[in-house]
Amino acid sequence: MIVMKFGGTSVESAAAIERVARIVHARQERRPVVVVSAMGKTTNRLLAIAQTAIAGRREDYLTQIHDLRDYHSREARPVVPLAQRAELDRTLDEHFQELTELAKGLAILGELTPRSIDAISSYGERLSSYIVTLAFRHYGMSAQRLDARALIVTGAQHTHAIPDYPETYARLAAAVPPVAQHSVAVMGGFIAATRDGVTTTLGRGGSDFTASIVGAGIGAEEIQIWTDVDGMLTADPTILPGGHRVKTISFAEAAELAYFGAKVLHPATVVPAMEKNIPVLILNSRRPDVSGTRITAAAVPCGNVVKSIACKRPITLVNIHSTRMLMAHGFLRQIFEVFERFETPVDMVATSEVSVSLTIDNTRHVDSILAGLREFAEADVEHDQAIVCLVGENIRYTPGVARRVFMALDGINIRMISQGASLLNLSFVVAGADLRRTVESLHGAFFAQLDPNVFERYEAVHA
Ligand code: ASP
Ligand code: MG
Repeated sequence: MIVMKFGGTSVESAAAIERVARIVHARQERRPVVVVSAMGKTTNRLLAIAQTAIAGRREDYLTQIHDLRDYHSREARPVVPLAQRAELDRTLDEHFQELTELAKGLAILGELTPRSIDAISSYGERLSSYIVTLAFRHYGMSAQRLDARALIVTGAQHTHAIPDYPETYARLAAAVPPVAQHSVAVMGGFIAATRDGVTTTLGRGGSDFTASIVGAGIGAEEIQIWTDVDGMLTADPTILPGGHRVKTISFAEAAELAYFGAKVLHPATVVPAMEKNIPVLILNSRRPDVSGTRITAAAVPCGNVVKSIACKRPITLVNIHSTRMLMAHGFLRQIFEVFERFETPVDMVATSEVSVSLTIDNTRHVDSILAGLREFAEADVEHDQAIVCLVGENIRYTPGVARRVFMALDGINIRMISQGASLLNLSFVVAGADLRRTVESLHGAFFAQLDPNVFERYEAVHA
């Protein structure tokens, strides 16, 4: 069995759903279990309906619900067998009727609880899984929908519910393999329920998490995350187009990249897959022949030191300086106590004898933080900075990486530098205005030669 997860853009239209059906069809002998997100921007639209409802704007939420029904109906009809169009209409009516009742209820209460947010946002995946199941039948597959809410059991932490793993794995192992024997099993991602059957959700973007949980629960041989990019690249494409595809990477490296801004995969979501040692693949549903990125427990031996360059911006640099720090103890505690008081996470830290530099990305309380620090030290901030992070397991084994970085960045001011305790990243801070130049120089320095076992050259893909 394999798990195949398709995100919102992969099921946003009739054409997209047809592409998904072809992709699954071609892999039927691997007994796919399909996990789908809500179609396109449906989750956002459902949350907007909830807001309009509690604001008491009746005409508006009725229009929003009507438009959302139209959208589902319009995109579903072409991919649903003629004989089943009446059933489709009936099911859409039922769901949107319920949704309207729910919105009316919210309008009366004028209040939106986390539990109601989950109830409302669950409709996206309930509908998409239903429509995709009909579409699979239309394209000649035997398909069966399984209600994720009967299989993924969570606590009552609404909007970010925590799975009860033993119960969930037991239910998945009992329910999914028998269906996968003869049909493509289809489930909505993101949605779950408590033991009492109250609908919960796993948090925004939670369908990747569902795929990982399902994969772990059924002991899948592989978890495929189908999205709209070719996989992980050697550089953030929004900063430097023309990065090469990383064909294989370890879980530790992928997580490191994700912490530092890579949007492809949320690191926490693949933990179940990681624990059961199931490979995770990132694939492009618009270009299914590209082999994507394979994430595995152990890194494949690689001739390159660096696998990828991640960036995070804008971030703010806080510089703290005090001669009282010389030979004193308790100074760092005093500093961090200020950040704690204003609930501001610190990302990177570097210290020397009399100064500390650190970065934050939430600047909401920066003025209060400065005032707090200035009670015992000199402090200033610099906005519009960027963190650049080189990631690769080999960084820890290879001498001279820092020298190569400094050579490549000749003429660019490095504001702060830190080698992570994980030893597989080397991060530093540069001014936002220098970011593009920084990434370009580093990319030239570290990816001029490519180990063909690990990378696919950009030109080769786009020729
Ligand atoms: N539909 C949900 C969201 O938009 C879950 C997902 O797409 O992964 O957050
Ligand atoms: Mg997503």
